[in-house]
Amino acid sequence: MKKFFIILSISLTGLLFISSVPQVNAQVGQIWETIIGQPRDDAPGDDGLTPGVFRPPFKCGLTYAGSTYPAHSDYSVDFNRGVVDLGDPIRASANGRVSYIYLPNGQVHITHAGGYETVYAHMQKIQVRTGDTVRLGEQIGEIGNVGQSTGPHLHVNHLKNGNRIKVSYNGVPYPASLPTGASRAGPLVRGFCP
Ligand SMILES: [Zn+2]
Repeated sequence: MKKFFIILSISLTGLLFISSVPQVNAQVGQIWETIIGQPRDDAPGDDGLTPGVFRPPFKCGLTYAGSTYPAHSDYSVDFNRGVVDLGDPIRASANGRVSYIYLPNGQVHITHAGGYETVYAHMQKIQVRTGDTVRLGEQIGEIGNVGQSTGPHLHVNHLKNGNRIKVSYNGVPYPASLPTGASRAGPLVRGFCP
């Protein structure tokens, strides 16, 4: 048994070492999670936020309306700023690491401290790569109409330990479309001003 733990610690040291190569970093995160049972602390430096607290991913000075929709059947929130939001900048909601990108849906996943993850979808432009570390307020892309989308908007999901939770900004959660199955508008959000 002791031998097992020695091999385990050598393996983990190895994982830490190859984590320095950005391309393999995301995969290492997955392996790490499998072995250790919980996600790595993926927040580079201190953004001053308690894990699980996020800032709106929008440009300072702009205001967006968000709503949950029954078609999503979950906690997903779609954000719009009238009809003029195509190309608006999308920014990281907290410090984190880009863990996954799915181009056909214009989708970026960022993992954060505490097992949290934020997902941004339908972006027409993606300005980060898998493995990148990003800081709160850093631009990651632009609002688009890419993938499963019928008009320009930003689709957002928040997850903890891989499970979807309510999207929340500044500690204020959006209502879920369930259990009533109705569209439910949440609070207006203003872009984060550093
Ligand atoms: Zn959506």
